[in-house]
Amino acid sequence: MKLQKKSSLLAIFLFGSLAIIIVAISLLSFRQFSLSTAKEQVRSVAEVVRVSLTESMINGVIDRRESFLKRLAEVEGLLVARVMRSPEVIRQFGQGLAGEQEVDPVEKRVMESGVPFFGIVTDEINPIFRGTIPFIATQSGEPNCLQCHNTPNGAVLGAITIHISMNQLQAKALLTIGVMTGIIVVFAFLLTIFFRRQLTPVMITATEVQGVVAKAKDGNFSGRIQYTGDDEMGDIARDLNQLMEHLHDNLSTITHDISQLLHYEATGHTNLITTTTEMVETLLEIAQFKQAVEEDRTKFEVYHRIGHILREQFGINTCSIYEVSSPGMNHMKPVIVDGEQESTCKWCNPEILFQANSCRANRTGHVIDAIEDPLICSQFKPIHDNPKLGHICIPVFHSGTVGNVVQIVMDRAHGRLYQLLLPFIRAYLRESAPTIEAKRLLDTLRESALRDALTGLHNRRFLEEYVGTLEATAKRKKHRLSVLLMDIDHFKEVNDVFGHDVGDTVLRVVAKALAGQIRTSDMVIRYGGEEFLVILQEGEEYSGERMAEKLRLAVAALKIPIPSGIMRKTISIGVAGFPSDGEDIWEVIKCADIALYDAKHNGRNRVVTYTPQLVGKE
Ligand code: GH3
Ligand code: MG
Ligand code: MG
Repeated sequence: MKLQKKSSLLAIFLFGSLAIIIVAISLLSFRQFSLSTAKEQVRSVAEVVRVSLTESMINGVIDRRESFLKRLAEVEGLLVARVMRSPEVIRQFGQGLAGEQEVDPVEKRVMESGVPFFGIVTDEINPIFRGTIPFIATQSGEPNCLQCHNTPNGAVLGAITIHISMNQLQAKALLTIGVMTGIIVVFAFLLTIFFRRQLTPVMITATEVQGVVAKAKDGNFSGRIQYTGDDEMGDIARDLNQLMEHLHDNLSTITHDISQLLHYEATGHTNLITTTTEMVETLLEIAQFKQAVEEDRTKFEVYHRIGHILREQFGINTCSIYEVSSPGMNHMKPVIVDGEQESTCKWCNPEILFQANSCRANRTGHVIDAIEDPLICSQFKPIHDNPKLGHICIPVFHSGTVGNVVQIVMDRAHGRLYQLLLPFIRAYLRESAPTIEAKRLLDTLRESALRDALTGLHNRRFLEEYVGTLEATAKRKKHRLSVLLMDIDHFKEVNDVFGHDVGDTVLRVVAKALAGQIRTSDMVIRYGGEEFLVILQEGEEYSGERMAEKLRLAVAALKIPIPSGIMRKTISIGVAGFPSDGEDIWEVIKCADIALYDAKHNGRNRVVTYTPQLVGKE
């Protein structure tokens, strides 16, 4: 119920109750007052009659009492004045005037008891007060009753009944009460108007506050209170307006700043609270993601984390993350495809792997949205051609150039949803980009530190890092490894006769020939100046000795182009096995070195397999 209605009802109730109470009290008081006044009047009339009758008796004119009583009855308001005799007086003085012997039950009771009676005897229309008062014989005074009456002191000599009209009194009472009620009603009316006037600003402000707060609850702080009075309501209005302004400004600023960070402008939202909360939550999640990414060990952990976020946060299960090679190389490779670490292209023409520029997102650096324009990229080629499929490709920049391309594949019907999610997905990708770039750079640096610049083969440092894994894998899988240590024969001569550059060419050509002969699972290492080490996993048809022979022949068959023509070189190879010839690879290499020494010693261009008998022959 509205405050105004409530206060009006309360005023009506209070003033109504007050009026009823006052009228009731007044009526009661008037009644008491009227009764006591009438009683006194009756007593006075009775006394006047008694004195008059006594005087008449003394003066011997008691017989004329009838006219006196008649005249008395003519007094205004006096309706009846009737005197009656007691049986004792009748006995002594006779019947008296007509009617003086007739008594009604009340008069009979009064004369018997000597106790006066007073009461209202209302006829149908008018209220009438009746009093019946006994005349008691008394011997006090001079003259006194007992001088004439033969009755004992205290006997009832007679009684008088008087009827008084109460019409006038009643009319006066009603008039007074009417005036009083009128005054109360007018006063109540004026008071109600006054209070309503006083309450109006409270009422208006309360209604406005209600509206402003209701809007604020829905995150809309644009509501303002119009009331500008200089009372408490005005203070409340100003304070609330200021509060709304603060909330609106601060939340708008927060939302705007976060929008800038996310590269996303929230539009169409009127609820600032939920918009700000969602924005802050998103920012927090992205910050947590960034921290996790920074603590990841490898770039693959980061790629998997991105895949996880896309899956869990955005419900994207079909997505590929491509790594774009350094500028100029023009190739790219998939690193994560639909959650798996992969290197095969599932959703695009594999041409993009070797022609990275044919990937539109990579070439243009723009988001490629095939939801808007299904024909935008001709390289989108799902394995099972499905026209319902759409895709969005997002380029991720590393120091100004595209370092990754993230491709999301979805049912075209849900494309709009992914378009809405795009700013948030891009925010995650942007945050992970510096870490991925740093890790890729570190990988490149590490790779170059582990490779020999002249031949492109792994170097001895690589072996030092890798040897633990190599030994452990071989032991676990119970593989036998063959270690082939080889050295170019009479290499010093090349340098001495043809110069260092020709020496380098020979090293490059021999290295390439060796690498071309072995399987990708085996490894060839430039172990020293013109020494190479091949480590291979032996199989039934694939012994170290046989492989060494193959390598020796391959090198011997090389026609190495040098400025002055063609050069031919040979190599000597020492072969040893792990774990048969040593507890670790380094021990085995020592054995291979012993065998190599033997090969050199016995004429070069040959393969010698280590046997313990070779020890001591060096
Ligand atoms: P042997 O048949 O006994 O092996 O005789 P050799 O002449 O090959 O003797 P050795 O293996 O001791 O020769 C190593 C030479 O390889 C010495 C060094 O000048 C040369 N060398 C080492 N590293 C390089 C390099 O990177 N480039 C060039 N051009 N020469 C190198
Ligand atoms: Mg050597
Ligand atoms: Mg040599």
